[in-house]
This record gives sequence, structure tokens and C-alpha cells, in this order.
Amino acid sequence: MHLEMTTACNFRCDFCPLVELQRPASRLEYSLIEQILSECAEHRLTNRVAFHLMGEALLHPQCMDVLRLCRRYRMRTRLVTNGALYRDEKYRELFDLVDTLDISFRTVDDMEVQQVQEKLTFDEYLDRVVAAVDLRAAIVPFRPHSKRPGRIPDVGKHLSLRLF
Ligand code: SF4
Repeated sequence: MHLEMTTACNFRCDFCPLVELQRPASRLEYSLIEQILSECAEHRLTNRVAFHLMGEALLHPQCMDVLRLCRRYRMRTRLVTNGALYRDEKYRELFDLVDTLDISFRTVDDMEVQQVQEKLTFDEYLDRVVAAVDLRAAIVPFRPHSKRPGRIPDVGKHLSLRLF
């Protein structure tokens, strides 16, 4: 099941219909999300919830509470974020709560990022994404027999190529 927690987003990517749709910035009430999850669990409709489509789920003030709720209902979760809202403590909690976190890195140029979030430069945005990748790699060490060993550190290394 896909749940769009909020229509709000701090980015305005060229390819995204978010702007053209002109929907008011709005979010699902926690009580409604709880009802949806409870009915899904009760009727065994799904045990997987993905928070993406449009909107930046981390802008929802109760995003972490919703993820806790999913855990209580034993639902596996996937959340897609643009990574711009990286904060160390928040992401530690996030990595603990979510089963799969996708950082949908916007490979836009500096001007485009500033266009969508005036106070964030492209370099600052990139730093946040790299910090999130590094944090993930630090708190969840890769097992030697993993099928894709070192995948996340490799991404971090790749992103750091901009320094050369
Ligand atoms: S970050 Fe995602 S939701 Fe936001 S504008 Fe870009 S593609 Fe759309």
C-alpha cells in the first residue's frame, strides 16, 4: 500500500507533476492513518506500506509516530525522501524504525536546488545526502557474506568524487 502522508515538498523537481497539480499543501491526520493501518491489519489486506509518490514524508510532523505505528501492526515499511532534511538524530531514529529508506538524490544543478529551497545550496544538499549514507554505513555494518557488500559505502565514495 502506498500512503502519501503529505502533499507538501521542500523541492520542486522539473519532472515532478507536484507543482502542476496545484494541490493545497495538506497532510493526512494521524488518526486517519491509524484507521487505515488498523483496517489493513485487521482484514489482512497488506503488511507492507510505502511512503512516497509525491510529497516529502519527513515533512509530516508525526512521521516517526506513523512508522512506530506500522511497527506495532507488524508492517514492513519503505520511505522515500529527497534527503534534504537530514539531521543526525532524526536519521538515527529513522534507520531504527524504517525497513527500507530510499534517498532519492536529485541530480540537479546548484541553481535548481536553490530554486526549490532557497537557503540550501547544492553542496549543502549533497553534504546531507553523503552524511546520511555515511551514518547508515556506520550504524549498520555490512556482513562479509552480504550479496552486495559495501554497496552503501561505495555510494558515499562515489558522491565524494565531486571533491576531486
Ligand atoms: S522531491 Fe520528490 S516529491 Fe518533491 S518535487 Fe522532487 S520528485 Fe516531487
